[in-house]
Amino acid sequence: MVGDNNCIFCKIANGEIPSATVYEDGDFRVILDMGPASKGHALILPKEHYKDLCEADTAVAAKILPLAGRIGAGMKKGLGASGFNVVQNNGASAGQTVFHLHVHVIPRYEGGPAMVSWEPGSADAEVLAQTAKAISAAME
Ligand code: 5GP
Ligand code: ZN
Repeated sequence: MVGDNNCIFCKIANGEIPSATVYEDGDFRVILDMGPASKGHALILPKEHYKDLCEADTAVAAKILPLAGRIGAGMKKGLGASGFNVVQNNGASAGQTVFHLHVHVIPRYEGGPAMVSWEPGSADAEVLAQTAKAISAAME
């Protein structure tokens, strides 16, 4: 669906609301996040409205990672970043706050903070095997 009336990212992606635009093509607008985790923190917004990655058209979704790579390379060359994280949140429990699919590209700089990290847990081989089966049996 294009142009969900109540969706701020639809309005930004389609140019109804102005934004600091890094890149635009027929499928995407890439903007700077208004609350950046680091200088240059960008958001890849599809122009079509999809709530999250599970709803996304696969042809559009397939273009996102190569685009993230191009943006990251631009951050390294243009901003002096030494690396970047690609982050994508699905669902409130995963930290999604805007329910229009978007991908964060976050440049990282020498001496600055790295990736949003997690505490590594532990799981035995049996639990890993059962968990893998539960996911794979439910995939469409
Ligand atoms: P999420 O937590 O949903 O993955 O990320 C939403 C991101 O969108 C946040 O980093 C937030 O700062 C950013 N954001 C929310 N509203 C706006 C907006 O109106 N303009 C811009 N440029 N960024 C926004
Ligand atoms: Zn939207």
